Amino acid sequence: MSTFADIILPLAQPCYTFAVSHIPDLKVGEAVAVQFGKNSVYTGIVLQLHEQAPKSGKVKPVLYRLYDYPLLNQAQINFWKWMADYYMSTIGEVMRMALPSLVKPHAPNEELYQPYKLPQERVLRLKKGIEEIATDKTIRLTPRRVALIEQLQSAGGQITRSQTEADSTTIKALETAGILEIFKRDCKPNLYPIQQALLPTLSEEQNCALNRLQEGLNLRNVALLHGVTSSGKTEIYTHLIAQTLLRGEDVVMLVPEISLTTQLVQRMQQMFGQRVIEYHSKLTASRRTQIYMDMLRSDAGNFIVGARSALFLPYKHLGLVVVDEEHDSSYKQTEPNPRYNGRDAAIMLASIHGAKSILGSATPSLESFNHAMAGKYIGINLTSRYGGAQPPRIIISDTLRAVKRGERKSHFNKELLDRIAGRLAAKEQIILFQNRRGYAPYVECPQCGWTARCPHCNVTLSRHLKSGTLRCHYCGYSMADPRFCPDCKKSEVHPMGFGTEKVEEEIAYLFPQAKVVRLDSDTASSDKEYNRIISAFAERKADILVGTQIVAKGLDFEGVTLIGILNADNLTNAPDFRAVERAWQTMLQVAGRAGRRGSAGEVVIQTSDPSHPVFAALCEAGYQHFAAAQLSERKLFNYPPFSRLIRITLRHCSDSILADTASTLGTLLRARFGSRVLGPVTPLIDRIRGQLIVEIIVKIENSASLARARTIIAEQIDTLRKNAQYKGVTIICDVDPI
Ligand code: ADP
Ligand code: ZN
Ligand code: ZN
Repeated sequence: MSTFADIILPLAQPCYTFAVSHIPDLKVGEAVAVQFGKNSVYTGIVLQLHEQAPKSGKVKPVLYRLYDYPLLNQAQINFWKWMADYYMSTIGEVMRMALPSLVKPHAPNEELYQPYKLPQERVLRLKKGIEEIATDKTIRLTPRRVALIEQLQSAGGQITRSQTEADSTTIKALETAGILEIFKRDCKPNLYPIQQALLPTLSEEQNCALNRLQEGLNLRNVALLHGVTSSGKTEIYTHLIAQTLLRGEDVVMLVPEISLTTQLVQRMQQMFGQRVIEYHSKLTASRRTQIYMDMLRSDAGNFIVGARSALFLPYKHLGLVVVDEEHDSSYKQTEPNPRYNGRDAAIMLASIHGAKSILGSATPSLESFNHAMAGKYIGINLTSRYGGAQPPRIIISDTLRAVKRGERKSHFNKELLDRIAGRLAAKEQIILFQNRRGYAPYVECPQCGWTARCPHCNVTLSRHLKSGTLRCHYCGYSMADPRFCPDCKKSEVHPMGFGTEKVEEEIAYLFPQAKVVRLDSDTASSDKEYNRIISAFAERKADILVGTQIVAKGLDFEGVTLIGILNADNLTNAPDFRAVERAWQTMLQVAGRAGRRGSAGEVVIQTSDPSHPVFAALCEAGYQHFAAAQLSERKLFNYPPFSRLIRITLRHCSDSILADTASTLGTLLRARFGSRVLGPVTPLIDRIRGQLIVEIIVKIENSASLARARTIIAEQIDTLRKNAQYKGVTIICDVDPI
């Protein structure tokens, strides 16, 4: 029996030591109630048992254990430890995020605790033999009673209440007669049988890729499946998933966004039936708890489809991790701590279990591409679409030339307009992509130059026509649209630039016969609205879909044959070393929505810079060259994947306190890291929600120890925080920021 335990609490605090000798046979991973602070009782998790009394302070005893089995296995504890360490957060912050809310009850008073109770089922058991029943004169054997007795007998004498259709009167009568008894037990999770026959037959190219994948994964732990949209990556995954489940091992498949899970779950259920479990943070707390508890008790062979939070389920024998759309930046948790990348964490989780990982994408991240080139990952390519569908034809449309020739109306070049007219006439569908929502990103007075700005953030306010407001896309601030310049009062204010709302208006004006719908976070404010718009377009109730990034992800519309990307310069000009890579990914993902079935699609990309190398990379042949060029540029400037970045963000409402803190921290860091420290710099948007922002970036070359760098940074921040003058400043570390 141990004397002490280090306990994880769901807080941004280190672990504390509690006395546990009064709790018999306590194990690592068990949940206990502990008092922390004056009146607060928390659920804690036992991280470690030992005999070492803490050097200072009185040790409080743990109050009591919450369950009679551990909530975490050793692999999970290792995963939590890694995550806290790598992403510079506390293990308590990992706990806060990882355990579904019902498992981590913490409340100011104890009475509120409601440890999860396993669901129960009623079981009927035959108490007498058939002959004995037949000779029993005290009971009349009606046909219904006989039917139930026979059912029980053929099932070996025992069935659950839900397995029989017998009515309660019949059951009661047999129970009273002493023929059967009823008892309760914890429900057993059902495992649905895997039928290999339901798997799709692979095409020759797919089969070849599958074989190479299997061979490759014998040698390496991670594979990158680079397959153009519609090449059937999902079909290849299903074969590997089936093999893993048949071995009795768990599988987790991640998608970058919750909205994409439903479609995928349905597809997987056609092959794996009820074995497929959907998991993400939008499920109810009780559903998430139930899944967690079921998995704790099931032996293995669970198949989870979900968002990044699915990594925290209690896998026992994880065999395979699939990360679909691995390039997607939504895998990164940007707030709060731990600011982890779901893709990278998935690979780590797999390695803790000795499992294999497959990363799939039509547009792999340069990081993963680089690993594949270096032989660290197995790289597999799928270059043709399933069923022989042709890749879309890409047309780069020069906006400046169109303007010069008078071939531009509103925000559309003639090359695009002519094609829209043609596709509409042929009753085909069109998607128009613009990566800005609202009507106009800003409004300006042509007389005095006044622009509307957010009072809390250093950004312009966007005009939203429908609601008659100017809105901040960072903090949500909104004001009535003044229309007339509030400053000089001489002129109307003009919309500058254009967002999806304006595109919708203009295209409806140019093609009055077409029905136009818009998909962005304004129109798809809920899942219900999102699904309504998507299904309306899929059912061809509209001809043109105008949308932001949302339309780039995973959607599959049969009728779409034309895509317009209205302003590619927006994408390539973003002030970020990943801008060009992202532009390439976004354009190809949007392009992938065209002509997914048979008929060849077209993609018109409008740009003022048609010679930009990103456009040449949109065809299969151009990619290798583009990726190599991008990588050598990154190498030259020592950017990821040739270095690791740690971004330290400082926030405060006072300019002088912030500047002072940042420069002190900069000096402390420079003393240790020298020229690896960049900044303090003011980011492009230097005020959000009334807080001023300053950043420091630390660039760690790949040959140096990132772990050591993290320790030094944490130490320097601690040193800084000891100084009362800097106390109020929020300091956030983001490892591998995106
Ligand atoms: P990706 O994930 O690479 O974008 P999908 O797996 O979604 O591609 O496949 C695109 C379409 O082709 C889907 O509708 C899918 O059902 C179909 N498909 C792909 N491979 C096969 C196959 N081997 N058998 C039947 N249908 C397939
Ligand atoms: Zn704002
Ligand atoms: Zn004015």
